[in-house]
Amino acid sequence: MSFVLSKKLPTPAEIKEQYPVSEDVAVLKKQLDQELADIITGASDKFMVIIGPCSADNEDAVCEYIGRLAAVQEKVRDVLVLVPRIYTNKPRTTGAGYKGMLHQPNPEEAPDLLQGLTAIRKLHMHALRSFRMPIADEMLYPENFRYLSDVLSYVAVGARSVENQEHRLVASGIDVPTGMKNPTSGDFSVMINSITAAQHGHNFIYRGWDATTSGNPYAHAILRGAVNKHGQSQPNYHYEDLRRLYDMLSSHDIINPACIVDVNHSNSGKQFMEQIRIAKEVMHSRSHSADIRSLIKGLMIESYLVEGTQKIGVENHIYGKSITDPCLGWEDSERLIYDIADRV
Ligand code: PEP
Ligand code: MN
Repeated sequence: MSFVLSKKLPTPAEIKEQYPVSEDVAVLKKQLDQELADIITGASDKFMVIIGPCSADNEDAVCEYIGRLAAVQEKVRDVLVLVPRIYTNKPRTTGAGYKGMLHQPNPEEAPDLLQGLTAIRKLHMHALRSFRMPIADEMLYPENFRYLSDVLSYVAVGARSVENQEHRLVASGIDVPTGMKNPTSGDFSVMINSITAAQHGHNFIYRGWDATTSGNPYAHAILRGAVNKHGQSQPNYHYEDLRRLYDMLSSHDIINPACIVDVNHSNSGKQFMEQIRIAKEVMHSRSHSADIRSLIKGLMIESYLVEGTQKIGVENHIYGKSITDPCLGWEDSERLIYDIADRV
């Protein structure tokens, strides 16, 4: 038997009981959820900037980063809601490599899933309690969602997961804005089918339960660029792409048509500095057209304390530098946030 079940892990209810959020944090989280939901529905015309490292690899560095973000948030409060990316689960193209804090609470040490479960819950709770900002993570493993369901105000379904029925059905039971990325192929209809599935209620088996969901009206699109048959990046942040998405969403009976543009990944071809230019272009497209303005509710940016990326396990590890996708550094990120605020 190639499957070895070595250790029974605590259930989400057990972990939540062991590391509970306080009542005031629960109240705060509801307010933050509402703030983001209002952006998606158009009840608020603030703009969302989901920003942070590709992977949350180290609690101290991530919290130092979010602390800086919190100070900037105060200055742009009238127009922007900053949403720290705390991505604790990483999809890997071939399955090899660092799979995130859930698997490896210390990226330089062997995987430890029990410690990982505790580490990601502690990191999310620490960030929410200390910085009082709405937090985003990717739902890479739908059955793990409930380990963090009481701390996340934004959930993303990744490019490699968006076509998967289980992700869609579980997303239909999430009460906070949930972004469905375009698949790596770039096919908008896959993403729109995923949004449709998530916006409707379903009945299915979840963690051994007969589960019924009522649909997630805040499910929306994330454009992250695509890869063509030659393996080359094909951006989808240009005006024509946004217009095509607007038209497709209009003809598909989508509630609250909304889109976030991810300015890294296949939109930048992982040329992380290009994120600055791409963000500005999207803001320009918004100012050019009322339709596009109503559609584009925010940006997703990969950013960390130090720009670029580094390998794991090398000598001279640099604190606050990405160990997965290359990120903008802090100074450029701060400048870009002010620039976005000026263009909303
Ligand atoms: C990410 O956001 O870091 C990521 C892996 O995104 P995608 O699913 O678009 O590749
Ligand atoms: Mn990334």
